[in-house]
Amino acid sequence: MKKVILLRYGEIHLKGKNRGTFENMLMENIRKSVKDFSCKIVRIAGRYLVTNFEENQLEMLIEKLTKVFGLVSLSVAFEIETNQEKIEEIAILCLKNQNILNKTFKVITSRADKTFPINSDKFSALIGEKVLNNFPSLKVDLHKPDIELFIDIRENKKTYILSEKIKCVGGMPVGSAGQGLLMLSGGIDSPVAGYMMAKRGLKINAIHFHSFPYTSVQAKEKVIKLAEILTDFTGGIKLFVVPFTKIQEQIHIKCNENYMISIMRRIMIRIAEKICEKNNFKTIITGESLGQVASQTIESITVTNSVLKTVPMMRPLIAFDKTDIIEIAQKIGTFETSILPYEDCCTVFLPKSPIIKPTIKNAEKQESFLDIEELVNEAVENTEILRV
Ligand code: ATP
Ligand code: MG
Repeated sequence: MKKVILLRYGEIHLKGKNRGTFENMLMENIRKSVKDFSCKIVRIAGRYLVTNFEENQLEMLIEKLTKVFGLVSLSVAFEIETNQEKIEEIAILCLKNQNILNKTFKVITSRADKTFPINSDKFSALIGEKVLNNFPSLKVDLHKPDIELFIDIRENKKTYILSEKIKCVGGMPVGSAGQGLLMLSGGIDSPVAGYMMAKRGLKINAIHFHSFPYTSVQAKEKVIKLAEILTDFTGGIKLFVVPFTKIQEQIHIKCNENYMISIMRRIMIRIAEKICEKNNFKTIITGESLGQVASQTIESITVTNSVLKTVPMMRPLIAFDKTDIIEIAQKIGTFETSILPYEDCCTVFLPKSPIIKPTIKNAEKQESFLDIEELVNEAVENTEILRV
């Protein structure tokens, strides 16, 4: 008897004609996520099966697999040589390992091996009876059972038996929605925003603006660390590090200080859009949440948004409370790094009273004191690209 892992996917089932493409993409992502383990992955009947791994690596494999977007659940299954008595024995063992108090169950048999003498329905009923004899508190529910006990009798004389489901992250396979560019600061919100969009199938790349020497080397390293944590969910990330010092100095010298943040954000977005165009990224993502700070009022968002010409901006956290964002940050493991002390370029030359309700007209007026195009082009040219 050996253990295998059965992986189930969710929404992909709804994909009709495109389903194959999504399945292949998910398979590829699964492969990448467990590339450090020796194991075999095959697709069987709308699922995936992970086999031939070292049993002492089971926990670590599960840990990796639960983070693959597109998978909704997994189960550890027992693989045995097909034999009726052995199946009965393992079916009971499977239920012994889990909490069955006040639960309902159903046995589902799939019999690909037609030489097995009992048909699927009859065999399910037979095993169901054995289960009831062993666990009198369990009840049968054929429509919405709490526990499903699967018996998969395959043609190669092997049978798989499993029941407990472990929840995976769900969502869509990373890459199935194309690529996006996450504006990644060192704060709590933006890594969570990237996680949320990757969950919907966007392959995430990141852009970080830094103002050395006003912001430290450590601030940049912190952002690299955050990107590294995100790769657990998103696969490799291209990180664009943009030198922002000169732009900030220019704004500081030439523009009204109340508009500092608005202008800064408008320039950041122009740079991000240019990088999207160059790399065929389809959207920019930020960690903004409505009303959280002065630059996240509807008016401020209107003023920053208005510079975008070719890609949409996505703000998955717009309706989230900080406490909810923190909860996700803790769950995905970015929180501890995000709260390390750091200075963001947004805090350099911070005005005493940033404007809460800026207008596009005034922002454009302030920008007329700068050579925006040159500043943007120079920053894009000097951008450093890291592969995390
Ligand atoms: P975060 O926790 O993500 O830093 P925040 O609440 O501090 O967000 P702001 O500083 O107003 O909010 O930034 C809003 C968004 O702008 C961030 O979520 C991030 O997407 C982007 N951003 C801010 N600073 C930078 C930076 N230095 N580089 C890249 N993106 C940035
Ligand atoms: Mg911030």
